[in-house]
Amino acid sequence: MSGFTTPLAEELAEDVLERFLRYVRIETTSQLDRTQCPSTPGQLELGKLLAAELNEIGLQAVEQDENGYVFGTLPGNGPVVGLLAHLDTSPDVSGAGVEPIVHRGYDGGAIELPRNGVVVDAPLLREQAGDDVVTASGDTLLGADDKAGIAEIMGAVAHLARHPELPRPTLRVGFLPDEEIGMGPRLFDVERFGARCAYTLDGSTRGELQSESFTAAEVLLTVHGVDIHPGEATGKMVNALRLAGAILATLPADVAPETTSGREGFIHPFDIHGGGGEATIRIIVRDFEDDLLAEKVDRVRAIAEAIVGAEPRARLDFSSRAQYPNMRDHLAPFPDVVAKAEAAIRAEGIEPIQNPVRGGTDGSQLSAMGLPTPNIFAGGHEFHSPREWVTVQDMAAAAAVVVRLAGEWAGA
Ligand SMILES: [Zn+2]
Repeated sequence: MSGFTTPLAEELAEDVLERFLRYVRIETTSQLDRTQCPSTPGQLELGKLLAAELNEIGLQAVEQDENGYVFGTLPGNGPVVGLLAHLDTSPDVSGAGVEPIVHRGYDGGAIELPRNGVVVDAPLLREQAGDDVVTASGDTLLGADDKAGIAEIMGAVAHLARHPELPRPTLRVGFLPDEEIGMGPRLFDVERFGARCAYTLDGSTRGELQSESFTAAEVLLTVHGVDIHPGEATGKMVNALRLAGAILATLPADVAPETTSGREGFIHPFDIHGGGGEATIRIIVRDFEDDLLAEKVDRVRAIAEAIVGAEPRARLDFSSRAQYPNMRDHLAPFPDVVAKAEAAIRAEGIEPIQNPVRGGTDGSQLSAMGLPTPNIFAGGHEFHSPREWVTVQDMAAAAAVVVRLAGEWAGA
């Protein structure tokens, strides 16, 4: 779908774009295996800027806490409703020196970026001919995930602050660090945030409203072999890498991210390292049902135990940990939370798209922590890649949905 959804969206567009272009230039790539929160200093820099802008807009109780979380309150009439987005970008692709390009009145063809021969071209993009498309320059991601969400929330609360006559509940804005490494909710104080529910603006296509995510676990397998000089290895060496390779080769090929879709789960080895003496495999396991997730974890364990167990001199360490739950069951007791988002999206003239997310959001964990938090579209596409793109029209639509969501909750 192309064009502006409503005059409200059109009115919000340039402010949202201007903010977006400012935020993406700040490098906020998060870092796995963090030793502090946030994992990288750029997130503090962006947070500081946002806190200053929230103050400028006129929000109350604006603060950036010691862990880099940014909060602010726009008082209103009704319950306290949260608006959330994340400060960091994916460690998969560089986010250093992002140079956004606005392709005004996109012509509907492939977009060649100036660096690294990167071409942005996708059926969904072609559908948006005529819109203003924003991309990076080819050597970095864009960071629409999730700076589009941040810009939309900022644009929406700025609009509400400028128009005191518009209905709104008390809105609590929150910007979280380290979502991409799964740590956003870790130091989030739900009690102190004090909202009845919240919405992340971290989805993709215009109209998306997500109230169901993966349930997720990570498995760590370490194979211990017997390492010895290869010249003297006859009858003695047990090569941990060969055993690890056999485990990988035995994992079911039809239960992989590349061979599943919709509501199917998968087993995905994503890292292997080590040597002949010891090798470690890291695997993520995903499903929409906890019992099916547990079955898949057991299946990985059975395969690894059978292969390593066949060699009496080898040893296996197996561990698994929960990463995040499906938010569905935690949202079910609060049907009005999703219903009001649906109504707000419809009020913007958009038909809500409700597919389960093949991933997790901060809302997956926050919902389980007692803050029901579905996910609303932010407009970005091809996240975590140098081909990432978003249109001004979709960002404006998301910002307008936030203004309408405020209207839905006012006085509730
Ligand atoms: Zn995101």
